[in-house]
Amino acid sequence: MKAITQELIDAQIEDVRLHEPLSRHTTWKVGGPADILVIPRDKDELKRTIEVLHRRNIPWRAIGRGSNLLVRDGGIRGVVIKLGNGLDYYRVDGDRVIAGGGLSFVKLSVLIAKRGLTGLEFAGGIPGTVGGAVFMNAGAHGSEISRVLESAEVLLEEGRWIRLTNRELNFSYRHSILQSSVRGIVTEAVFQLKEGNREQVAASMAQFKDRRRQTQPLQHPCAGSVFRNPGGDHSGRLIEAAGLKGYRIGDAEVSTQHANFIINRGQATANDVLTLIEHIIRTIEKEYGVTLVPEVQVVGEG
Ligand SMILES: Cc1cc2nc3c(=O)[nH]c(=O)nc-3n(C[C@H](O)[C@H](O)[C@H](O)COP(=O)(O)OP(=O)(O)OC[C@H]3O[C@@H](n4cnc5c(N)ncnc54)[C@H](O)[C@@H]3O)c2cc1C
Repeated sequence: MKAITQELIDAQIEDVRLHEPLSRHTTWKVGGPADILVIPRDKDELKRTIEVLHRRNIPWRAIGRGSNLLVRDGGIRGVVIKLGNGLDYYRVDGDRVIAGGGLSFVKLSVLIAKRGLTGLEFAGGIPGTVGGAVFMNAGAHGSEISRVLESAEVLLEEGRWIRLTNRELNFSYRHSILQSSVRGIVTEAVFQLKEGNREQVAASMAQFKDRRRQTQPLQHPCAGSVFRNPGGDHSGRLIEAAGLKGYRIGDAEVSTQHANFIINRGQATANDVLTLIEHIIRTIEKEYGVTLVPEVQVVGEG
C-alpha cells in the first residue's frame, strides 16, 4: 500500500490517509480501518485518484457520510474514497437544482426550502450525501429521490464520466443501478423541482422533523433503519412484536424508541451490531416466517 500511497501523492492528491479508522467516518461509529482513505478535494483530484487505482487494479469503494454503512471490524482492503469539500457545491437554475455528490442531503433540502422550491422536503432528516442518496434511492415520508431526480453524473471506474437519466438509473425501493451493473461514483445530481409556497414547504419540513424527533433515537450513533420493509409490513413492527426492543449484544442495542434502529451505546463493535442483526433475522424468521433483509450496506472484512 505504501507504493500506491506514494503514487497518489505524486498525482498531487492532497488528503491521503493510511490505516484510517472508518469508525470516524460512519454514523454508527464502528468499523475497522481503510488501508488507504482518500478525500479528493475536487473532480480533478477524484479523476486522478480513480486513474491511479484503475491502472494499478486496486479495489476501491466510495463513501459519503457513512450513514448507511456497517464496516466490519477488520476494515476495508484497498482504497476508500470520500468526496471532499470541492464536491459539495450547488446551483439553482429556475426550478432545477444541480448539486455536487458530496453535498449534505439535509443541507440541500434546507437551502432549497428557503427558495420555496418543493420536492425535497423528505430529505430533511436523511443525514447522508447527495451521492449516497442517489446510490441508495433514499426516501422518507412517502417520497424518494427517484421522484425528483432528473439525472446523475457518474465517474466510471476506468475514469470516464457519464450522465445517467432517471430512467437509466433504474430506481426501485432503496435500489439503483449503481448497486448492480454500473460501478462508479456519483459526482453530481440534477433535480427537477417545482415552485412551491415557502411557508408550506417550511411547515411540512418542520412536521417531518418533529415526527423523527419523536420516533427515532437521534441522540445515539445509529444508521437509520437497519432492515428493508418486507412487502406489506414494517420491519420495526415485526421486531417490536417479537419482544426485541431493548435487546442488547455488547454495546449494540435494539432501540426502545424505534425497533428498526440499532443504537451504539458507546463501545459497540461492528461484530456486536452484526451479531444482533443475525439474531433479529433468526428470531423474525422463527416467529413470523419472514426473512428480513438489511437495508444497511455491510462491507469490509471481519
Ligand atoms: C438517523 C438516520 C436516519 C436515516 N433516515 C433515512 C431515511 O429516512 N430514508 C433513507 O432512505 N435513509 C435513511 N438513512 C440512511 C442513510 O442516511 C441513507 O441511506 C443515505 O442516503 C446514505 O448516504 P451516505 O452519503 O451516508 O452514504 P454511505 O452510507 O456513505 O454509503 C451508502 C452506500 O452508498 C455508496 N455511496 C456513497 N456515496 C456514493 C457516491 N458518491 N457514489 C457512489 N456510491 C456512493 C457507498 O459505497 C455505500 O454502498 C438514515 C440514517 C440515519 C443515521
